[in-house]
Amino acid sequence: MKEKHAAVESAPKKSEEKKSQDKSAGSFADLGLGKELLAELAALGYEEPTPIQRAAIPPLMEGRDLLGQAATGTGKTAAFALPLLQRIGRAKAVAYKPNVLVLVPTRELAVQVSEAFHKYSKGLGTSVVPIYGGQEFRRQIVALHRGAHVVVATPGRALDHLRRETLDLSALQTVVLDEGDEMLDMGFAEDLELILEATPEGRQTCLFSATLPPRIASIAERHLKNPARILIPRDKSNKGSMPKVRQTAYIVPRAHKTAALGRVLDLESPTLALIFCRTRIDVDELADRLVGRGYRVESLHGGMSQIERDRVMKKARGEMLDLLVATDVAARGIDIDHLSHVVNFDVPASPESYVHRIGRTGRAGREGVAITLVDPREHRLLRNIEFLTKQKIAISTVPTPIDVKARRLDLTKGAIRELIQAGGQDGFRVVVETLAAEFDLMDIAAAAVRMAHEASAGENPSEDDTHIPTIESFSRSKYGSSDAREESAARGGGSRHYESKGKFEKRGTFAAKGNKPGATPGAWTPGQGAGVKSGSSGGSASGGGGGGGSGGGGEGHGRNAQDMVRVYIAAGTRMGIRPADLVGAIANEADVNPRGIGDIEIGEAFSIVELPECDVERVITALRRTTLRGRKVKVHRDTGVRQ
Ligand code: AMP
Repeated sequence: MKEKHAAVESAPKKSEEKKSQDKSAGSFADLGLGKELLAELAALGYEEPTPIQRAAIPPLMEGRDLLGQAATGTGKTAAFALPLLQRIGRAKAVAYKPNVLVLVPTRELAVQVSEAFHKYSKGLGTSVVPIYGGQEFRRQIVALHRGAHVVVATPGRALDHLRRETLDLSALQTVVLDEGDEMLDMGFAEDLELILEATPEGRQTCLFSATLPPRIASIAERHLKNPARILIPRDKSNKGSMPKVRQTAYIVPRAHKTAALGRVLDLESPTLALIFCRTRIDVDELADRLVGRGYRVESLHGGMSQIERDRVMKKARGEMLDLLVATDVAARGIDIDHLSHVVNFDVPASPESYVHRIGRTGRAGREGVAITLVDPREHRLLRNIEFLTKQKIAISTVPTPIDVKARRLDLTKGAIRELIQAGGQDGFRVVVETLAAEFDLMDIAAAAVRMAHEASAGENPSEDDTHIPTIESFSRSKYGSSDAREESAARGGGSRHYESKGKFEKRGTFAAKGNKPGATPGAWTPGQGAGVKSGSSGGSASGGGGGGGSGGGGEGHGRNAQDMVRVYIAAGTRMGIRPADLVGAIANEADVNPRGIGDIEIGEAFSIVELPECDVERVITALRRTTLRGRKVKVHRDTGVRQ
């Protein structure tokens, strides 16, 4: 029953029976992973596979193709990394010829995914190289020359290396297209086709996408052979079994989650909160930080002995704890009547797990509260939960230090009120009378309140002064990775440098026209745009992906033609510029949702991009700061005058 939300659909084969047993297997070892990988997973504190891992690992390990619908936060990276690492085993790395190529839409993901491969493969000695625009070619070439088992690349940069013959896909065993829908939204359709053409016929292909629009289905149709399909069924509502619980989510970049949680807890003042983390390591780290904030906290995870766990549970039941930080495995079966809050430090990997977790509170007629901290990249998971439970999860703003102070004062006020009502202050009256001879009664009372407040609230200024970026909704973040960029910038990620992709010989059918006064360059329209003109006679450069196709209404990013402004960029086909370069540069450098971009016209010497007025200045400033194909270029509002 564990696999309600991730099902493998595949062509009927004898071996499938075995697979369905694997599907419900409990542990990573049951999935057939080798001892080196199992050791790393244990060291990382992973206690059990997520649903997508249970469903994807067996077919991938068998060498089958796979189409997976999975958003960030479901554990999908490990779902493909683990079986592919297992298949590589201890093979010798060959210069320029990787065994596995993973294509991802952004450089942040390239780094993130290669870090994931790296951490899982420590015991195997697998070499993993991320390659993405903006980083020196030389460094990447040296790494590729040394030999990489796994290359994680953005499509444009992968093409550049193919053209330079510093990447050779002739020996490729597996290609993974990660975040397929994002790659298409960014205009990489044509690049993907070109890369796939350069791979061997018999390779294994894996396509992951958070959504499965027709454009993705078409890629799957053409490039996947008898794939295992891992889909999230859309018809299984758990509404009937949903407990009555106040549900709130806070959108917080991961780096700020602990500080945000501290404030939320201060505001909520739970009787007892059960806080779920993904790994044992996360549990211990968070528990330590929360102890520092003045709470009575204990950890609970699979790495603890039964005696330790019993001790913790006794404390929790005996109302000697404020917070219990736990993994899913360790918290299974916990049933405590006075549990007032359930906190998801990360969005759970499946809607079913969310329902299970929050069902722990709101028992015995008490009001229950469920709080979920959502990294901007996990927004799709939250949407899935809302969809499947048919319940709205309110999105709140993380309380400010001022909110927290006000709430603490409220609590102090309440405590004093209770004390006065209960009486028993006689022994202290004499102190007040003595002081009253010297000071104003109001001052005496205020000083006493302050003492009581500071003693009970456990002030923690260092935590409270932390700046937590305010993200109130996902309205701008359909393009999830922009938020990841914010996060990496917040972590001190440094300035970004975008270098567009190089020209690969068979680069599409885009027919540019001359940039003469009055000449109309060829036009390209991003896939989801609303109310923009479609590709001109120059032909769409977006191949099967970005252009025409799905059309659609722009999902809440509807543009009004009057608000669109034309921006001139002094870079055109002569420099090898293609629509994906401009979309990528604008999205990456100016942090603009690519769906908001209107027509893109690319001529020989310059390009014109239509942008919403509100984004124009940001885009101009960002593009002036960066380089396109290694060059600084002029960027300004289009005046119609051409040099
Ligand atoms: P992903 O969906 O691949 O972005 O993964 C989301 C997060 O979950 C990452 O921080 C992973 O390290 C973590 N993760 C993946 N699989 C597991 C697991 N089985 N147990 C605990 N954490 C996991």
